[in-house]
Amino acid sequence: MSTRAQQYDAEVLRREQLSEHLVRLTLGGAGLADFRSTGIPDEWVGLVVPGQFQSRYYTVRSWEGAEMVLDVVVHEVGLVTEWARRDVVGETVTITEPKGSFDLPAGAQWLILVGDLTAMPAMARIAESVDLRTHVIAEVPDELPGYLPSGAHVTWLRPVDGRSRLAPVVEGLDWPEGDGYFWMAGESAQMRAIRKHLMRERRLPSSAYDVMGYWRGGQRQPRAVDPGPIWRAGQAAGKSDEQIWAEYDEARDAHG
Ligand SMILES: Cc1cc2nc3c(=O)[nH]c(=O)nc-3n(C[C@H](O)[C@H](O)[C@H](O)COP(=O)(O)OP(=O)(O)OC[C@H]3O[C@@H](n4cnc5c(N)ncnc54)[C@H](O)[C@@H]3O)c2cc1C
Repeated sequence: MSTRAQQYDAEVLRREQLSEHLVRLTLGGAGLADFRSTGIPDEWVGLVVPGQFQSRYYTVRSWEGAEMVLDVVVHEVGLVTEWARRDVVGETVTITEPKGSFDLPAGAQWLILVGDLTAMPAMARIAESVDLRTHVIAEVPDELPGYLPSGAHVTWLRPVDGRSRLAPVVEGLDWPEGDGYFWMAGESAQMRAIRKHLMRERRLPSSAYDVMGYWRGGQRQPRAVDPGPIWRAGQAAGKSDEQIWAEYDEARDAHG
C-alpha cells in the first residue's frame, strides 16, 4: 500500500484583496472534487504554487460547494507571498492532505483565541464553529471589519514597529473562572514563550491549550523543517498536540 500523502490539483477560481496584507484565494476545479475536510476548525493544508516544490501551510478558511477558500498573508518577501501578490486566477496549485489540531475539551466553558494575521483564518473558522463564550485577541496591521463572527468578544491590537507583543499580552491576561480552552498561533518565538508561561506559571494541563508556531521570524534557511512528517510521527506515537508542536519548534531551531 502506498503511504504517499494524498495531493490535489486545484485551480485558482478567484482572487480578492481583503485588506492591504490579506488576499483571499478561492480554489476549485475537478482536481479538488475528492477533497474531504477533517471538519477540525483550525484545519490546514500544504500549498505548492506553480514552479515550486516546497509547500507552505495555509488554513482552510472554508470548504463549501467543492470550493476551498484560503486567506493568504502577503508580507514582505516569500515564496507564496510573491506568487499571491499578482493575478493568479486560472493557475493550478497543489494542495496536500488536510490536518487539524484544535481539540476542545468536553465541558469547556470558555474559549480564548490569540493570534496574528496568519491566525485570523483559523480564529474566524473556530469562532464560527463553537457555541461558547469566546474572546479573540487579534494582533493585525489591517482593519478587518466583519472578518470575525459578531458573537465573539474581540480585542484588536496592532503590531508595534512590525513586532508582535502577543506574549506579554497573554502573560498579563485575566483568565475567566472555570475550565476552558486556550488556542494561539503566530510567530514561533512568541509561541515558545507562551508555552512556557502556560506550563510553568499557569500550570495548565496540555489538554487545556493548543499553541502553534505558524511562521518564524528571521531568514528562512534553504532546508526548512517540514511539519508533516513530525506531525505524523508524533500522532503515531500517541503524543499530544502540544508535545508535537514543541518538537516541531525545536527541530526548526536546530535547523535554523
Ligand atoms: C498550521 C499552519 C497554518 C497556517 N495558516 C496560515 C493562513 O491561513 N494564512 C497565512 O497567511 N499563513 C498561514 N500560516 C503561515 C504561513 O505558512 C507562513 O507565514 C509562511 O512562511 C508563508 O510563506 P511565504 O512563502 O509567503 O514566506 P516564506 O518563503 O516562508 O518566508 C520568507 C520570509 O518571510 C518571513 N515570514 C514568513 N511568514 C511571515 C509572516 N506571516 N509575516 C512576516 N514575515 C513572515 C520568514 O521569516 C522569511 O524570512 C500557517 C502556518 C501553519 C504552520
